[in-house]
Amino acid sequence: MPNARCENCNLYLDDICTKQKHVEKLIYLLKKRVKKFAGIPYNITPGIRHNEIVSASSWNCLHSMCDGVLYYEQFAENPRNFDFNLDMLE
Ligand SMILES: [Zn+2]
Repeated sequence: MPNARCENCNLYLDDICTKQKHVEKLIYLLKKRVKKFAGIPYNITPGIRHNEIVSASSWNCLHSMCDGVLYYEQFAENPRNFDFNLDMLE
């Protein structure tokens, strides 16, 4: 899986998931919401929001809290800081 970008603040996964717990939360939400057809993921619903990955207590200031939805970008570069791929959804 290449990458995902927040529709609101335009951050990619590397900048959204700054801690291991964010990565774990992202994978947890993906597993829970992914829809598959013949074993192939085709949709994630409802969409995962930025503020679901980063919990309220983790924002530096509540005004910066972002509730944008993350969109999958097939042709974006892979995240640099962690290995993110569809095998994680098995
Ligand atoms: Zn955002």
